[in-house]
Amino acid sequence: MPTMTQPTLPPALPSIPGNSPSANGSGGPESNPGALAATPELMEELAQASRLLEAATPEEIVAWGSERFGDKLTMATAFGPEGCLILSILASVAPQTHVFNLDTGYQFQQTLDLRDRIAAKYGIEVAMLQPEHTVIEYEELHGGPLYKTNPDQCCFDRKVKVLRKAVVGFQAWMSGIRRDQSADRAVQPVVGWDKKFGLVKLSPLSNYTKKDVWRRLIAEGVPYNPLHDQGYPSIGCWPCTRAVQGDETDERAGRWSGKSKTECGLHSLESDGSGI
Ligand code: SF4
Repeated sequence: MPTMTQPTLPPALPSIPGNSPSANGSGGPESNPGALAATPELMEELAQASRLLEAATPEEIVAWGSERFGDKLTMATAFGPEGCLILSILASVAPQTHVFNLDTGYQFQQTLDLRDRIAAKYGIEVAMLQPEHTVIEYEELHGGPLYKTNPDQCCFDRKVKVLRKAVVGFQAWMSGIRRDQSADRAVQPVVGWDKKFGLVKLSPLSNYTKKDVWRRLIAEGVPYNPLHDQGYPSIGCWPCTRAVQGDETDERAGRWSGKSKTECGLHSLESDGSGI
């Protein structure tokens, strides 16, 4: 487990020059009237917060984010083990936080059911956000399922575009990524600036290992996706997810199996457009 020493946390919401909302910040690719401006002062604040929160518990990181950004903080979850753990933390630390799911239309039924189990246990209603076109419309438009021929475009249309719309009006977003999940994720700070979406990004579980997450889920009785007990360590849309074999050590080996793709584009750090 990561060190649990109490850090000296940065003060919440200092009055930083140039830290007022701007039309698009100076880094966000989409029009987001509520976004913070990506000023040097804000970058310095985030870097300082990230340093100080490096050894903090997920609860402390979530509490800092909630105090710093208030109702301008949102969270995206795909109901993975990490997301479920953060939802359980939110229930005790910041239950009013807005949470959403990118409901692509291709999610497993078990994932959709988990949303209801979380709501029943914690009273947190995750907003299910759908893309412009239903699955039927989308497949008609493209002459068949695009996940087979162009998964990057499919992820872009059914996840990234929806996320961009979802975060309008917010200043910060939080997700359950862990640094040990992939090379892309290994370089994510606890608190940083997400250029792609023009938002502050919080990763309360960056320093957790898979074992840390599961230890807490089991010990605390947090609901999780039953597919994890059937060989699916990482669960996305059903067409792009398979169970892993016993000798596969990469927990994301079952995502976009047989393709070079490893990310849906939400968490990669490349410039806008690449990695999607
Ligand atoms: S994970 Fe697969 S089905 Fe889901 S949006 Fe991406 S390409 Fe489409």
